[in-house]
Amino acid sequence: MSEQFDVVVIGGGPAGYAAAIRAAQLGLATACIDKSLGKDGKPAFGGTCLNWGCIPSKALLDASHKYVEAAQHLGDVGIEVAGVSMDVPKMIARKDDVVAGLTGGIAALFKGNGVTGMPGVGRLLSGRRVEYTGHDGAVSTLQAEHVVLAPGSVPAGIPPTPVDGDSIVDSTGALEFQEAPARLGVIGAGVIGLELGSVWGRLGSEVVILEALPDFLPMADARIARDALKVLRGQGLDIRLETLVTGSKVGGNGVTVTYEDADGQQSIEVDKLIVAVGRKPYTEGLLDPGSGVAVDANGFIGVDDLCATAAPNVHAVGDCVRGPMLAHKGSEEGVMVVERIAGFKPLVNYDTVPNVIYTHPEIAWVGKTEQELEEAGVAVHTGAFPFAASGRALAANDAVGVVKIVADAETDRILGVHILGPQASELVAQAVIAMEFDASAEDLGLTMFAHPTLSEAVHEAALGVAGHAIHMVNRRKRA
Ligand code: FAD
Ligand code: NAD
Repeated sequence: MSEQFDVVVIGGGPAGYAAAIRAAQLGLATACIDKSLGKDGKPAFGGTCLNWGCIPSKALLDASHKYVEAAQHLGDVGIEVAGVSMDVPKMIARKDDVVAGLTGGIAALFKGNGVTGMPGVGRLLSGRRVEYTGHDGAVSTLQAEHVVLAPGSVPAGIPPTPVDGDSIVDSTGALEFQEAPARLGVIGAGVIGLELGSVWGRLGSEVVILEALPDFLPMADARIARDALKVLRGQGLDIRLETLVTGSKVGGNGVTVTYEDADGQQSIEVDKLIVAVGRKPYTEGLLDPGSGVAVDANGFIGVDDLCATAAPNVHAVGDCVRGPMLAHKGSEEGVMVVERIAGFKPLVNYDTVPNVIYTHPEIAWVGKTEQELEEAGVAVHTGAFPFAASGRALAANDAVGVVKIVADAETDRILGVHILGPQASELVAQAVIAMEFDASAEDLGLTMFAHPTLSEAVHEAALGVAGHAIHMVNRRKRA
């Protein structure tokens, strides 16, 4: 007889584990099947995010930032540090410790909340039966009232640069270098290319980033993208736009990468090459033909606005469905789905998904860009405030960047907030809250912010929408 559950979640990344924990909190008998193994070979819940994504990349970004601060910037504030050196294997080992602590934390949260964690592979059969294959090869069948599919995504590749796990790596391999490659090539100036390019550039690699598109970060506000490109190039990242990678050859001295740009055929020699050209949904072996769940031409599981698939009582959440491939977006979907199963009526507000690129300065935004709104024919007012005029940013020797707020010209409702600057990842949360509550720029302007804080830049940008920022000369004067 099959083991029965109210909810079976397949995939224990941020979408799946959040769904499982919330389901159990709501009193639903819940199992979560996940096949990931940690570096020690033991089950490691947490998915891409904890094992090979958000967390390890941020551990290395923070460590490498601290190194640059110590090696290059502490002297600016009167702290002389001699003989700063790096220990890359120690950084990697510390990153692994952080990951192990957090994946172990999910196992503890499962236990504490009453989720049955099932390490192994799940496969959806017909009638919401789930085939479970443990890591020991034992196969059993679970019967679920509801199934939540959260299998996540894996790196995409391109034919000219096949990943070999040594000279040519994907993001997972790029988190494991034991020394900074002298010459590092990166394909793709997207989020991963910029974050991991920054990590290794800070630790001494000469980094060349080849990007196919003519525009840098086309999804970001044009001013923020332009300023960020200048800053990142200034840090030594050699970002080459409008390049078409045509081939690669692995040899004794690394990799020769050939590409075409406006000047014709080019090539670079690098010691390591990171391929960071996007990710694709991962559904290999997940769906039995009888499951009733279909994937689209790009491999995404088809869902409606509430993450319901075509099969009754089967939902799909996270990177495997439409929308941005972000941990917090997946978690919100997972929680929404199980709360609806329990009879509540939450929705995910896809208009307020924050985006962050953890370079330094950080790049963060929520909502629409000025350009998108212009194209849609929406008249807007904007306000911008540079961190160069922020007392706190100057005091911290960290004053590069700007906050820009875009508001509806007629209603003053905030439609987008775009930040390049220190702690932009934290500052953007204020904008998300304001937009969740349909705030106007005036509402933010009337809100009191502590002084001196970086947040005051958000306040001043909001005041700037109405043309009366205090600590700068307003270009547009209004009452
Ligand atoms: P995943 O995290 O991919 O988890 C899916 C899990 O399901 C995996 O453990 C997988 O092994 C398992 N699984 C799949 N199929 C089966 C099956 N049949 N049976 C059992 N288990 C299965 N996002 C952010 O928001 N912020 C960041 O800073 C950030 N940084 C990133 C850095 C890097 C280098 C990378 C690669 C990604 C980063 N992301 C970041 C993206 C983020 O990791 C993903 O959006 C997020 O992990 C998606 O969550 P998920 O639960 O949908 O899938
Ligand atoms: P991405 O979509 O952010 O960037 C990929 C880049 O590669 C794009 O600029 C694209 O134009 C370029 N590209 C594609 N094909 C190319 C080619 N043949 N030659 C040169 N350039 C090419 O994807 P990513 O950086 O791989 O990240 C994958 C996903 O993981 C993203 O969706 C992202 O949201 C998520 N992620 C998020 C964070 C974060 O939130 N901080 C960090 C890392 C990853």
